[in-house]
Amino acid sequence: MAVRPILTIKDERLYQVSEPVTKFDRNLRNLVRDMFDSMAAEGGVGLAAVQIGVLQRVIVIDLVEKGFIKGAFVNPRLLAASEELQDGEEGCLSVPGLSAQLKRPRWVKIGYQDLSGNEKTIEGEMLLARAFLHEMDHLDGKVFVDQLEPEIHRLLAGDIERIKQGLPVENPKVPEYRKKKSA
Ligand SMILES: [Zn+2]
Repeated sequence: MAVRPILTIKDERLYQVSEPVTKFDRNLRNLVRDMFDSMAAEGGVGLAAVQIGVLQRVIVIDLVEKGFIKGAFVNPRLLAASEELQDGEEGCLSVPGLSAQLKRPRWVKIGYQDLSGNEKTIEGEMLLARAFLHEMDHLDGKVFVDQLEPEIHRLLAGDIERIKQGLPVENPKVPEYRKKKSA
């Protein structure tokens, strides 16, 4: 078990496409354990393997405190999404101190493999749907700040640039759903 440093958007690896997992072995279980540890250490609710520098298609989510689930999802893919959208505040451990409104489908159905390689599906709505979509984007080298509506992006462009240069943002804002679990 280990807490590993989380890459920020100044790191090029966050813009690369992760590789499918083919081996469901102890290395995978150790990776998932490190992901849960690293996410918890930062008070996050979701993490993709690339955020700790491992370019494998693995995500973890812990939304138990919000009434949803905790789990690890290997090779996740989007099977279906609602046309109906939700609007909500989104943040990312790789974009420290910044959050922004982003529209996402309200409901999704995800196909994935568990840690033994078994094929499964899961449905999620609201915060859980948002978390799945956010983390799966990471596997394709996409970060939420690059998907914002132009008007919102323009407002935050200075802060995004600062983070890309490794500097802190000027008025840090932590998204509501990422506030420490002890709060
Ligand atoms: Zn993220």
